[in-house]
Formats: sequence, structure tokens, C-alpha cells
Amino acid sequence: MTSFNDFGLAAPILRALTEEQYVTPTPIQSDGIPPVLNGRDIIGIAQTGTGKTAAFALPILNRIAADRRRPERKSCRVLVLSPTRELSGQILDSFRTYGRHVGISSALVIGGVPMGRQVREVMNGLDVLVATPGRLLDLLRSNGVRLNQVEVLVLDEADRMLDMGFIHDIRTIVAKLPKERQTLLFSATMPREIADLATQMLRDPVRIAVTPAASTAERIAQRVIMVDKPAKSALLVETLRAECTGQTLVFTRTKHGADKVVKQLHHAGLSAEAIHGNKSQNQRERVLGAFRAGKLKTLVATDIAARGIDVEGISHVINFDLPNIAESYVHRIGRTARAGAEGIAISFCDNEEVSFLRDIEKLIQTRLPATERRSAPRSDAAPHHRPQNANGRNGNRRNGQPQRRNGGGNGHNGKPQHRNANGHQAQQPRRNEHGQQGQQRRQENRHAPAASAPDNIATVGFMRQPEPRRAPGDASRHTR
Ligand code: AMP
Repeated sequence: MTSFNDFGLAAPILRALTEEQYVTPTPIQSDGIPPVLNGRDIIGIAQTGTGKTAAFALPILNRIAADRRRPERKSCRVLVLSPTRELSGQILDSFRTYGRHVGISSALVIGGVPMGRQVREVMNGLDVLVATPGRLLDLLRSNGVRLNQVEVLVLDEADRMLDMGFIHDIRTIVAKLPKERQTLLFSATMPREIADLATQMLRDPVRIAVTPAASTAERIAQRVIMVDKPAKSALLVETLRAECTGQTLVFTRTKHGADKVVKQLHHAGLSAEAIHGNKSQNQRERVLGAFRAGKLKTLVATDIAARGIDVEGISHVINFDLPNIAESYVHRIGRTARAGAEGIAISFCDNEEVSFLRDIEKLIQTRLPATERRSAPRSDAAPHHRPQNANGRNGNRRNGQPQRRNGGGNGHNGKPQHRNANGHQAQQPRRNEHGQQGQQRRQENRHAPAASAPDNIATVGFMRQPEPRRAPGDASRHTR
């Protein structure tokens, strides 16, 4: 599909898309919208930044527009589950934006804010309810919501929900849904638990895989600076002053690290704020709001806190620490170059992080250009210098052509290629910013997922990647 008009979406939806200046569907939209319109279940292997929210929101809105009926009290017709409050908020915003001429009733059920208002919003029944699993369970237990009228269930970022220990909550929630329903599951990776969940929950699903890694990376000038660990703060100040004219997202591996970086920036006279799981919902909203409005230039974040942040003006992503899970690098740099813009990603790499750099380069199949700033480079940690071209790009183009990952990106004719072997996997349990691996958010409900072996699902193969490496000092640390 080359135009949104080809899908046969209702006029009020097309009107909103025109207002949003959406012209061409992204690959996940081209592939996903028709089967969802036909009532099929979907497994979408796609990350944030691929346009997956519209891929499920548009056909769902079309269903509501075509079959207007008053939702029953305390019930919802569509339930969207997402791992974080930020992502849930963004999904709801998308439904409201695309559905502004359809006139839908919708609400958010997330933790960190008082429950009373949410109970009142659900009371009269809703078309669309977007929720994080923990708070939705709280509401279910207090009989604030009933799920027996759900026609469509969306599970967004299923792998992240697994990471955050929500898998048991999801099973509990799904058990309360009608068996007759449409289910749409989206995940950036397909660890065994998610593949199992999909087998149990979905009926004859259509599998769609798109990879933003190559297409995103093409638009991002990526480079590495080899630096001594203690010199990273000074280098950050220098980099922010010298070249970060737009908005910058700085990543640290830990919450403590994020706070420390902010302090150091303040000390150098630069304004910056941190966003991570230890901050209250109010603080997170305030900081994100300021960043979105362009009032805050530098935001320091951990991986989980930044997941799903969709701010179009981010010109630079700086990896103050390299992620110990290579895939996180792709998620991180994808925060820049949003919606077709160009972006710059700079990674600081100290001697202890060289192995992480190798893992990242293996995953993205690209050697990143590196500059040497270490006082005593380790012989086993030598950077690989490659000349940069005029626009600072290197390593991800060959003969002027973008270098693609296995089967990734778009085909020559601009059509999405479905991926049969890709670089994604998540076979090892990961630590999350809420504590240790898979730790439940709430004490009374501990169901840490067991470590699992990698798995291949029928039509989507997964290249084995080296298992995530422990970050130095992680063993005794509970923060991420
Ligand atoms: P998502 O992957 O859903 O988080 O979307 C990433 C960003 O792309 C969001 O800012 C969307 O508003 C934007 N977007 C999604 N689909 C399109 C499209 N077809 N054309 C232009 N922008 C889009």
C-alpha cells in the first residue's frame, strides 16, 4: 500500500491523517493494517519508531467508527496493555489524535497517580482503555473495571513487559477476557516466553516483521569516542558545549549514574534533568513535558525510562555508558532521527566497555568510527579508526548503498522486506531498572520469569547473539 487511501479507512480517520501530514504508510502499517482490518490476529516484530502505534490504532479506530455502540458500564471495547506509563500515555495520545473526528471515549489506567479519577473515567464505559498491567489489576481487584466486553486486545512491547516482570500479570488479565476477541501482539524481540504467550493467546496470527535498525541507522551519523572512565563527565560537558545545538538525550546504564551525570552537568553550569524509575510520576511528566516543549535541552535517562519516548526534536543521542545489551544501542540511537529526520549518535567507550562495543558492532554489522582520547589504551581494546566522510557518516554504507542487516529494511522497490533472520533475540533474562531480573514491581505479586533458552518461532528466525554481558559492578548493584 502506498497511500492511506488504499486501506479503505473511514473518512474521519483519513481526515485526521491528512491533518497530521501522514502521506505514506510505513512498512509495518502497509503490512499490518489490512489483516487487522480483516479481523486477523497479528504478531508484529517491530520497535518503537517504526510507526507501529498507527498500525494497530488506525484499524481499531475503523472498527469503532463502523460499529458505533455504547460501551457497557465499567467496560471497554479495546484494551491496550503497555509496559510503561510514558508509552501508555503516548499510545492514548495517538488514539485521540487519529480518532479525533471519530469521537471515541478513551482513558489511561497507569500507576503512580491516584486511582479515583481512573475509576470515575472507566465508570461509564469506554471505547479504548490503555493501561499498564499493575494498575489495571488493582482496578480489576477493586471491581473498578470489567474486561468481559473486550473485543480487541493489544499487547505492546511484549518483550519489555517480560523484562519488567509483568508476564504473570498479563496472563491473569488475559484470563478475564472473552475468548472471542482479536489479539494484536507487538514485540521488538521474540524470547521464548513471548513466543509461548503468543501461541496460547493468538489464533492463527499473521506474522509481520520489520526492522528499523538498518533504516534508522542509515540516517544517523554514529561514532565512538574511546575515553578514560573518569574523563567521561568532562567529555560530556565538552561535547554538549561544542556540538549539541539541538536537544540531546544522554543515556546512562544506571539510575544512580543518571543522577550523577545531571549533578556534574549542573556543576559545569549546564541545565539537565534525569528521568528514571526512581522518579515520581509527577517528576517524570514534568521533565518529559519540558523536554518535549523544547524548554529542557538535555535529558539524562536510563534505557527503560527512555523506552517509548517519542520526541521529534532530538538531534543527538549520547551514550555516556555503552549498554551491556547490544539491542539497547539500537533502541537508544533510534530516539534521534525520528520521523525521517537526521540524527547524531555519539558513544563514550572506556576500557571496560570495549566488549560491549564489539557486541554492538556485531549486531548492527557495522564498524563504528572511533576517536582515541584514552591516556593508556589497552592493547586488546584498540579502536578501529576509519576515515569519516564529510557528513560524519561511516561504516554503514558501502558503495554509496546502505549496508543492511540480514534481510532487514526496505526492498529495492521501497516495499518492506520481511525478515527471516534478524539480529534480535532476548534469550537471557535481563535486569531492569526496577531491580533485578524480572523482579515484580509489587511485593505481593512476585513471579520472576525463569531464565529461558532461545527459541525460534515458525516464520521468524532469530540469529543468536552473544548473551548480554554484565556491566562492571552490576553484580552487587540493584539499580539500572
Ligand atoms: P511509533 O513507532 O508508533 O512510536 O511512531 C513513531 C513516530 O512516527 C511517531 O512520531 C508517529 O507520529 C510517526 N509516524 C507514524 N506513522 C507515520 C507515517 N505514516 N508518516 C509519518 N509519520 C508517522
